Amino acid sequence: MTSTYLASIGLEVHVQLKTRTKMFCACPAHREGDDPNSHTCPVCLGLPGALPTMNREAIRKTVQTGLMIGSQISLVSAFDRKNYFYPDMPKDFQITQQTLPLCIGGGVTIQTPDGPKTIRVNHIHLEEDAAKITHLEHSSEVDYNRASTPLMELVTEPDMASPDEALAFLTALKEMLLYAQISDCNLEMGHMRADVNSSVRPAGADRLGTRTEIKNMNTFRGIHRALEYELARQIALLDAGDSVKQETRRWDDAEGVTLPMRSKEYAHDYRYFPEPDLPPVRLAPELVEQWRAELPELPAARRARFVQDYGLPDYDAGVLTASRATADFFEAVAKECDNPKAASNWTMGEVLRALSESDQTLADTPLTPHALAALIKLLDAKTINQPAAKEVFQILFEQGGDPDAIVKEKGLAQVSDTGALEGFAKTAIEGNPKSVADYRAGKQAALMFLVGQVMKASRGKANPKLAAETLKKLLD
Ligand code: ADP
Ligand code: MG
Ligand code: ZN
Repeated sequence: MTSTYLASIGLEVHVQLKTRTKMFCACPAHREGDDPNSHTCPVCLGLPGALPTMNREAIRKTVQTGLMIGSQISLVSAFDRKNYFYPDMPKDFQITQQTLPLCIGGGVTIQTPDGPKTIRVNHIHLEEDAAKITHLEHSSEVDYNRASTPLMELVTEPDMASPDEALAFLTALKEMLLYAQISDCNLEMGHMRADVNSSVRPAGADRLGTRTEIKNMNTFRGIHRALEYELARQIALLDAGDSVKQETRRWDDAEGVTLPMRSKEYAHDYRYFPEPDLPPVRLAPELVEQWRAELPELPAARRARFVQDYGLPDYDAGVLTASRATADFFEAVAKECDNPKAASNWTMGEVLRALSESDQTLADTPLTPHALAALIKLLDAKTINQPAAKEVFQILFEQGGDPDAIVKEKGLAQVSDTGALEGFAKTAIEGNPKSVADYRAGKQAALMFLVGQVMKASRGKANPKLAAETLKKLLD
């Protein structure tokens, strides 16, 4: 992008809430893999006369999201009907919140190259999801399992100034939602979908430019790519003396372009009106406070605490708290081995490496925090050296087990016994007269070479520090 234009991006993010049942009935909430149309009832099929009842857990999770981002919680909120005809909505209206949403305002802080920046949130409201339609060549299939699943919509102000900032916002939001178990945030399953609004304006202009909206994006990478394309497209129009048309577009991932949607695809006259079958939602302030108290510690607070309590560098704290599972794992190891920096190094290093190499999550491996803590203790007690520890780690990661037993079984205990070390040292000295002469002539590097020979002779098990001391004693 040329520096003469500034970009503004606003997101409308839909999040599928993690609840047991649907928004207004007792049907199980949508889960992937269930038989199509196996979770339906008169309410979510919109049969005449069926009445909705409110899902309290969906309200709790929406309010908790608002609390996490500093929204003002509406103690009275209400539902509205958004009327439209499409087979994905059997009632011919969607129950949503138009005038009195549950959460108002708030913001999410992201890191940018220029420092932290807060992306303001306009509001968060609660609504029901539509059914899932699969368009076939000559027909369409509708699965009503997803119809009326609780959906939370979070609308930002147009505060993001680049595709990177939009990505940082989505990543930070996802991190919070996962921490607090608001949603499983599985993007492949469509748990997070966004409408992406963007505009450009000449630097110095005091009003935002005309925006377009890219509908229904469901990968972060796709959003980043779509924004790069769309902002460049808008800039090219302005550069050519044309104007941007306010319209709804869609992202063609294969072609890497955004295209206007046919106007039929988004023509709406929703005629919102208050939902007559649901009373307003009234929340007691004590209940909101209880829900706040039930929130877990959030990533930013946890990061600060890791620096404070464990004396970790900012960098370590950031990596470890990027996922709750990793942070929990690290903390369990650190508490047990009493060496937080080693716990951090092992978690950030070997653990994350092994996980990514084997494409697993912590839940998949038999490695426990208890076993890693025991391994670190063996290292700290100098019972084993670093190469042996890595060997034990790999076994723990693949098969689990007890580090002490593995060390014994594999004969990995470090050779700290002076007699044995002297034997290796003497052999090294006899076999390398040139290095011995170099060392005596003052070359320190020659000693390192001899230590290497001792390590080799001991098949990596010698304690390197003691090996150096033994060699010196014999040579001086
Ligand atoms: P509507 O009522 O048409 O849906 P909203 O005011 O609710 O419009 O805005 C929808 C989204 O579009 C919000 O995320 C908002 O931040 C974003 N948006 C609004 N105006 C602009 C603009 N000029 N440039 C970029 N994003 C914008
Ligand atoms: Mg809107
Ligand atoms: Zn139902």
